[in-house]
Parts: sequence; C-alpha cells; structure tokens
Amino acid sequence: MNLLLVGAGLSGAVIGRNLAEQGHRITILDGRSHIGGNCHTERDAETGVMVHVYGPHIFHTDDEEVWNYVNAFTRFLPYKNRVKTTSQGAVYSLPINLHTINQFYGKTLRPDEARAFLETQADTSITDPQSFEEQALRFVGPDLYEAFFKGYTEKQWGCSPKDLPAAILKRLPVRFNYDDNYFFHRFQGMPENGYTPMIEAILDHPGITVHLDTMFDPDTASDYDHVFYSGPLDGYFDYRLGRLGYRTLDFERFSGQGDYQGCAVMNYGDRDTPWTRITEHKHFSPWESHEGTVCYREYARECSADDIPYYPIRLVEEKALLTDYVALAEATPGVTFVGRLGTYRYLDMDVTIREALDTARAFLDHTTEGSAMPAFVKSPL
Ligand code: FAD
Ligand code: UDP
Repeated sequence: MNLLLVGAGLSGAVIGRNLAEQGHRITILDGRSHIGGNCHTERDAETGVMVHVYGPHIFHTDDEEVWNYVNAFTRFLPYKNRVKTTSQGAVYSLPINLHTINQFYGKTLRPDEARAFLETQADTSITDPQSFEEQALRFVGPDLYEAFFKGYTEKQWGCSPKDLPAAILKRLPVRFNYDDNYFFHRFQGMPENGYTPMIEAILDHPGITVHLDTMFDPDTASDYDHVFYSGPLDGYFDYRLGRLGYRTLDFERFSGQGDYQGCAVMNYGDRDTPWTRITEHKHFSPWESHEGTVCYREYARECSADDIPYYPIRLVEEKALLTDYVALAEATPGVTFVGRLGTYRYLDMDVTIREALDTARAFLDHTTEGSAMPAFVKSPL
C-alpha cells in the first residue's frame, strides 16, 4: 500500500520502518529541515559538543523489546542522569534521596529514621492526594515542597501546583538511600553519536522516501491508502474548535571554556530565578572530551500559535476540548493519530517507540482482516 507518515520524529520513523519492512511504500513528510523531531541532536558549530537541540533527552526504559530495537540502530553508551538543584543558596541532589534529606535538615539519619522523620513533616490528614501540592505535602511536607517543587513547578507550568494533577509529581520518586540516579529503569543510556543518526538509520530503507521542509496538506490525505499523523491533533483540524494548551520552552544558549557547572542538569528551585534549569551538553557525552562548553538556560512559558508545543497541559478545560477533537478524529476515516502531538500526551521516547511498534502491528492485523484501522491505537482520553 501507499502510506503517508506525517512527521519524521520517532513515531513516524518507527512506524514507517516497520511497515516498509512489510513491503509498503512509505512517504514521510516533515515541516522542519531535519529529521528526528524533538529528539534531534547536532554538533555545536563553535565547540563541537553534541547538543540536544530541543532540550535534554535521556533514554531509559524497562521495555526490553524497545531497548533491543534502538540498540539495533546505534550503539548506546552508559549514561546515568544525576540531577542537581540549586535552592535557597545551596546545591542539593535530586530526586529527593537520603543525601538531600540529611543535607537539607542538617541531620545524619539512616534510611528508617529518615522515613520516620519525613512522616513527621508530612500532612497525614491528606489521605487521597488529588493535586500536585497535596501529593507533595503528603509525602515530603512543606519544607522540601517549598524548596524543590513549588517555585520550579510554578515556573514550569505557569500555574499553582494546587491546580495540577498529582500524577505529575508521581513521576519523581523519594528515596531513602543514596541512589541519585534520576531514573529507576533497567536500561539507560545515550546514543554514541546522538539521536539523529539513530533515527537516520531507522529511516534508511529502500521503501522509505523522506521530504523535509514540507508541511502536510490534509487535502492530500486521499492520495494515500492510509495516513499516520504525528503532528498536533488540533492542527489537523486547522484549530477549528480552538487550541489545545501547551507550554513552550525558550533556550538561551551561552558558551565558554572548561566546565561551567560540573553536571549535565542543574535545576533552579527558587521562584525568583527566572529559568527552570541549565543544561551543560557536554556532560551528556562523558566519553567525549572538549575544551569548550555550551549550555542552555531553559525558560518555560505559555505556547502561542507561532511557538513549538512542548508539554501538553491536561487540565479540566483542555480535557473538554480534547474530547471534542477526539470525536472529530474518530470521524475522519483513513487517518491514525500517533505520537506525543497526535495524541496530546507527554510520552517518553521508549513509550513513543512502544506505541509506534504496536501501531504498525495493529495496521498489519487490520489489513489482514480487511477491517478499518482506528483513529487511535492509544486513546488520548
Ligand atoms: P516529535 O518528536 O514531536 O515529532 C513530530 C514531528 O512532526 C516533528 O518533527 C514536527 O516537525 C513534525 N510535524 C508536526 N506537524 C507537522 C505537519 N503538519 N507537517 C509536517 N510535519 C509536521 N523522552 C525521554 O524518553 N527522555 C527524556 O529525557 C526526554 N526529555 C524530553 C525533554 C523535553 C523538553 C521534551 C519536550 C520531551 C522530552 N522527551 C523525553 C520526550 C520525547 O521528546 C518524545 O518522546 C518524542 O519526541 C516523541 O516523538 P514523536 O515522533 O511522537 O514527536
Ligand atoms: N519538578 C520540580 N522540581 C524539580 C524537578 C521537577 O518541581 O527540580 C516537578 C515539575 O513540575 C515537573 C515534574 O516535577 O514538571 C516532573 O519532573 P520531571 O523531571 O519528570 O520533568 P520533565 O522531564 O517533564 O521536565
């Protein structure tokens, strides 16, 4: 069949590759001048450092099939993300662990003592935390919440943590040992030469043609037997019901010599520091050596029509609009909406690949059965 993939990020590349291997003819369009979507990496012209152009990307997963999949296309080297945070004039280790607790309170607690101590700080009257703030107050108490989460989250999301779902904070563990690995997944690493060569290798198949600098025109959808669309869900319908809310990011680049901050990611917990974090990119490739260094100061703000959508804001208002867009998508035959923008969800890279593999499989099953491929393999609701 003649299939169109909109977007040359991980979603488009993985679905395209798997269907090309089954003999389908694949056309992939991307409005940008490069492949890789938001995982795109490139060498900084001034310093030679590998830069994560759309923000830091660390690969971590428990999904062995996905880990084997990415390793078939590039070599991954060991990388552990050890995030630090600057707050109230001191530097601490994240996610909150025994070192953070002992340093913050000036104590020498052992694991069980720290657990018991945090219970004395926590608001145990909150039995079923609904909001980000309730989740924080219930599990770490007001002092650690104020120092590490309140200001950062207000900057990141542009609203009070009272209005955000508890699920956002549940992404971060609290550890009662000295493990400062930000992620707890079995498989972690960084592609030796960045993500873009990995995605280039995925796209390297005779059945795949890629057109860059080419925006998708929905009127051309009927030229294909099926379309997989990884652009913004509301964008497909020309935003006719209004815009789904996103946060966008501004990256302020600065460079110099040597080592600027001694780690890849330094968060800033104080509300009056306007940026959320600084990433020093050479620390993402610890096996390389560079005299120069390049850093991005990262600022979050509301996403307007001309900005790059980064984080979907899934509050009550957006969920109502999302429900209406999902209904429109389900009434659009011949198109499947995929990926982080097409399904309006925050998806890590491993989840994106898992869903892309499942989508390609579902398409093959529907083709064999002669049934219609649904608008969503994974519902955004
Ligand atoms: P995208 O990468 O967004 O690709 C979509 C592509 O479609 C884009 O290239 C876009 O140009 C193109 N497109 C859109 N509309 C059109 C159109 N109409 N016509 C033509 N082309 C179009 N995941 C991790 O696992 N670890 C991390 O550390 C991590 N860090 C992240 C940090 C940030 C700041 C963000 C925002 C995300 C992070 N992620 C991370 C998630 C990761 O970026 C996503 O999993 C991944 O990018 C999803 O791939 P995708 O193909 O679905 O979407
Ligand atoms: N967070 C925070 N302080 C930090 C790091 C994270 O308050 O130093 C909050 C913030 O609201 C963020 C959420 O915890 O959105 C989840 O953290 P994660 O590191 O997963 O953020 P992301 O990778 O999405 O930027």
